[in-house]
Amino acid sequence: MNLILFGPPGAGKGTQGDNLANYYNLVKISTGDLLRKEIKKNNKLGYEIKYLVDKGSFVSDELIHILIEDKLKNRDYYNKLIFDGYPRNLNQAKMFDLLLAKYKQTLSCVISLNIDKEVILKRITGRQICSKCDQIFNKYYNIASIKKHKCNSSFLVTRADDNLAAIENRYDTYVKETSPIKKYYINQNILHEIDGSKEIHQIYKEIRTIIDSLET
Ligand SMILES: [Zn+2]
Repeated sequence: MNLILFGPPGAGKGTQGDNLANYYNLVKISTGDLLRKEIKKNNKLGYEIKYLVDKGSFVSDELIHILIEDKLKNRDYYNKLIFDGYPRNLNQAKMFDLLLAKYKQTLSCVISLNIDKEVILKRITGRQICSKCDQIFNKYYNIASIKKHKCNSSFLVTRADDNLAAIENRYDTYVKETSPIKKYYINQNILHEIDGSKEIHQIYKEIRTIIDSLET
């Protein structure tokens, strides 16, 4: 079983991916990790990637393709991959299908964690930490009520986040790039959409229900 996890930054894709990889004995593949590992190798490809990343440029689809092929041809990982952050655009999705065919593997399902930009921003801006007991709350989703929190509310600190514009920007880019890919997988009948604003354990349960219902 190979699967893809989609979701905007802040949707909790990484956590879900790790938990699923553990539970189903899969190997999680994130292109970010692959690129960082390649740079560390100090070989020709690594230098090429470092040059692009340092310059702030995108790494080409062809280069990503090489790294993904390397994983798909590894027999230890045969039909055991969970992709996080890949494919990033329609071209990559099409190239990925060619690779799957080449190595006689299948993509069992694509899970999309859908979550509004407002919810992600509230998760970040609403975060409160108690300077006395270190408990973490959220002004919107996990209110520090008298029942939950014994310290005086004056100990609660909201951290200012200067990266809000960057987060919004990443979200918008994600939506723009992934909507054509989602259509592509809807047409293949393998896209499953989940409400990503729910609790982590609830989302995890829903994903497992989907995976368990697949014919393997
Ligand atoms: Zn406290």
